[in-house]
Amino acid sequence: MTIQDEIYIYNSLTRQKEKFVPLHAGFVSMYVCGPTVYSHSHIGHAKSYVSFDVIVKWLRHVGYKVRYVQNITDVGHLLGDDDGEDRILKTARIEQIPPMEVAQAYMRSYYEDMDALGVARPNIAPTAAGHIPEQIELIKMLIQKGHAYEVNGSVYFSVSSFEGYGKLSGRRNQADLEPGTRIQVNPEKRHPSDFALWKRADPTHLMQWNSPWGWGFPGWHIECSAMSMKYLGETIDIHGGGIDNQFPHHDCEIAQSESATGKPFVRYWIHNNLVTVKGQKMSKSLGNFVTIKDMLKQYAPAVLRFFILQSHYRSTLDFSDEALAAAKNGLQKLSETYNRLRHSPIGQATLDLDPYRRKFHAALNDDFNTPQAIALLFDLAREVNTTLSCGGFCEQDKSKLLDFFHTYARNILGILPEDKPIIAGDSAVFSKVMDLVLDIRNAARAKKDFATSDFIRDRLREAGIEVRDTKDGSTWRCI
Ligand code: ZN
Repeated sequence: MTIQDEIYIYNSLTRQKEKFVPLHAGFVSMYVCGPTVYSHSHIGHAKSYVSFDVIVKWLRHVGYKVRYVQNITDVGHLLGDDDGEDRILKTARIEQIPPMEVAQAYMRSYYEDMDALGVARPNIAPTAAGHIPEQIELIKMLIQKGHAYEVNGSVYFSVSSFEGYGKLSGRRNQADLEPGTRIQVNPEKRHPSDFALWKRADPTHLMQWNSPWGWGFPGWHIECSAMSMKYLGETIDIHGGGIDNQFPHHDCEIAQSESATGKPFVRYWIHNNLVTVKGQKMSKSLGNFVTIKDMLKQYAPAVLRFFILQSHYRSTLDFSDEALAAAKNGLQKLSETYNRLRHSPIGQATLDLDPYRRKFHAALNDDFNTPQAIALLFDLAREVNTTLSCGGFCEQDKSKLLDFFHTYARNILGILPEDKPIIAGDSAVFSKVMDLVLDIRNAARAKKDFATSDFIRDRLREAGIEVRDTKDGSTWRCI
């Protein structure tokens, strides 16, 4: 299958939009940094993974075969850059459960949230703790090639050994100038910006493995290099993550990977912007931390996706109850049009969907511009409403329109919920209510009050129920 669409991606590495050309025609290798599973996921995670979900779905829709890898960090992500307590161990200490139980519980919680949000699971979801040998091998190679050194059972990457260190974030110089301003410089490091590949563990440390350098655990950055190379090869097409991970995490990934292989690590870097809460950075200490679980108690998953995708992935997204309420109203209008169309009678009207399809593709091909794609769906909804006020679409165009909504609004953007079965709850009670409604309608017909009987028939049709009048009486069915 040849791919017609030309996709342009803003590459954070070159700081410009570039035409997307994968390394192997028709195939995309994509890695996105996954969560560190030490607490429930928050709306920042929702923004990031919903955005990448649309990117993956779009690439697949236009015909690429995508292998999507997203890791689970269950060891090595410390509270500081590479110092301080391991995040998983901190929760284990507070909740008084083993670290593996913390990781598994919050990994399940993460997937629960992602499933609820309709985020497609990655093809491969490797865990850091499950790939210790791969990380050790990579560290050994870096020592052999003179890019890393061992001190007292810990191994550090030597940033001065890699010419391009900091090329992604542009922060190399800043890091050089700032050593004194950071938390106390680790005396084992030859240069203050050197970072840990392997950390020596004291005997009481709960997560440790044997290595050529003694018992210890991997640094945070090395897992992504080791696992992306293992599953996607030495050079990958797309690497995604939150913009807050650009430095140091992604610059460290580049340094390790390119020093080990001598090849470019990533062709296109995609960075997703942050969520703010009423203009402020979201953080636990500010008390404005909103979990996905709490959000989903108040809003349907489609509302949350709609809210996220209404802004571009590279823009910050400001969260507030007012903004969510506005998103809910907006989405409701779109759903109403869709349901109106679904239940509309067949008529004569036609609609040429080609311009809409072209514009939808143009929006997503332009660096995955979801706000523009959503605006286009509203333009379409307006045209549909105008037509439906004067009669229905012909059978062929109605089915094409429904298909358009299913493909773009439901399958790709994920903002149109699944069609609910019309009878929810107790169907026996529902039948009795329907008998009552039809009795009222028949009473109106008997009195020749056709305005009322037609009103009831039309309103039922809008709700997805068709009434048929036969010589034996009136019947109803769900349509
Ligand atoms: Zn990563």
